[in-house]
Amino acid sequence: EGLQREVLESIALGRPLRSVLDLLCRRVETLAPEAVCSVLLVEKNGTITPIAGPSLPPAYVDALQGAPIGPRAGSCGTAAWRREPVESTDIATDPLWAEYRHLLPLLNMAACWSTPIIASSGDVVATFALYYRTPGAAPSFHRRMVQACVPLVRVALQHEANRTEIERLAYFDPLTGLPNRRLFNDRARQTLQMAVRIPAPGALLLFDIDRFKTTNDSLGHSAGDDVLRETASRLQAEIGDGATVARLGGDEFVALLPRCSPVEAMHAAERLRIALAAPLRIAGMQIEVSTSIGIALFPQDGAELERLVKNAEMAMYEVKRGGRGASRFFTSMMNDVVAQRMQMESALRQALAARGLALHYQPKMLLDGSGCAGVEALVRWTDPALGTVPPDRFIAL
Ligand code: GH3
Ligand code: MG
Repeated sequence: EGLQREVLESIALGRPLRSVLDLLCRRVETLAPEAVCSVLLVEKNGTITPIAGPSLPPAYVDALQGAPIGPRAGSCGTAAWRREPVESTDIATDPLWAEYRHLLPLLNMAACWSTPIIASSGDVVATFALYYRTPGAAPSFHRRMVQACVPLVRVALQHEANRTEIERLAYFDPLTGLPNRRLFNDRARQTLQMAVRIPAPGALLLFDIDRFKTTNDSLGHSAGDDVLRETASRLQAEIGDGATVARLGGDEFVALLPRCSPVEAMHAAERLRIALAAPLRIAGMQIEVSTSIGIALFPQDGAELERLVKNAEMAMYEVKRGGRGASRFFTSMMNDVVAQRMQMESALRQALAARGLALHYQPKMLLDGSGCAGVEALVRWTDPALGTVPPDRFIAL
C-alpha cells in the first residue's frame, strides 16, 4: 500500500514517466531484495524501448533498445508477443532466450518473470519484469506485488499518453497535424528574438487558398478538408525542417523563414505557390488549387510578430484584389493606402447615418426621339470635410 500510494502521488504530481517508473522499480527492490525490476515500453511498431531498470547493468539495458518483440524474444519480448506473463525459471537453458544468450554475461541474472501491460485500447504497451540472480520460480509474495504493480504501470502510462494528447490538442491542428497558431506564435517569437540579436534578416510568408469556399460548396466539406491536408503536407515537404510552418485557421497557412534575403524569400514564395498549384486528385476529380501569398520581411517590416503577420496579411489581400494566384511583398505604401481606405470607410458610414447620400435620377432617352425609356439611379456623396466624393472612390467601399 505504501508503494502504491507513493507511486500514485508521483503520477499525480506530474513527475516525468521515467522517474515515476524508476521510483516504482526501486520500491519493489526494497520490498523484494532478491529481485531486480525493469519496465520496457513496447512501441507501436513492435520494438522495445527500455524506460526503467535502475539496477540492471546499463550495457544490458542499451542492448535492448529497438529489439523486436516476438515468439522467442526473451521473457519480455515473448510476454509482449503472447500478451500473457512469461516466466523463465532458468534463462541459461530456456529456448525463449536462445537469441539473447549472448547478453547473459552482461546481465548476470538467472531467471526472469515478465508480465505484459495491456492498455485500455487493447494494445500491449509495456512489460513489467522481475529478474533473479538464482534460477527458480518467483515466491508467492512477489506474485502479489506484481499484481499491485501492473495496474500502477498501466496508470502511469495512461497518464503519460493523456498528457501527450493534451499537448498535441493544445499545440497542433487536428486536421493537418501542423502546428497551430499558438505553437507558431511561441516558435516564431523565439526565432524573431534570435534574428534581432544576431542580426539576421528573414521573411514571413502568409498563404490563403483562393476561392476555397467554392471548393467546399462544389465538392463538399470533406473534399475541402482533403485540400487543406494536401496543402499542409506540400508546404511542409517543400519548406523542410529549417522553417516553421503552421495553419493559422481556415484556409490560411504561414511559414517563417529565418536567415532569408528578400530575393530568396521571393523565390521561396514562387516555388511554394507552384508546388501548391500542382494538380491534385480529390473525390475522384482532378483539381488545381491557386494560392495568394503575402510576404513581410523582418526586421524592416516589423520586428514583432503581430506587426509582421498583419503586414503579410495586407500584402496577401493586395494579391487577392489584384486577381489572386500570385505573391507580393508588403510595402509601407500599402499601409497608407489601407489607412486611407479605412478613413473613407468610416466617413461613408457616417454619411449613411447622417443621410449624407443623395439620389439623382438620370433619364435614359430612346434614340429615335420617342421619349424616355427609364432612369439610371445614381448616388451622390457630399461630405462636410471631404467635399464631393467621386463615385469611383466610394462605390468599391
Ligand atoms: P478568397 O480567395 O478571397 O480567399 O476566397 P475564399 O473562398 O477562400 O474565402 P476565405 O479564405 O475567406 O474563406 C475560407 C473558407 O474556408 C471559409 C470556410 O468555409 C472554409 N473553412 C474554414 N475552415 C475549414 C475547414 O476546416 N475545413 C473546410 N473544408 N473548410 C474550412
Ligand atoms: Mg481563401
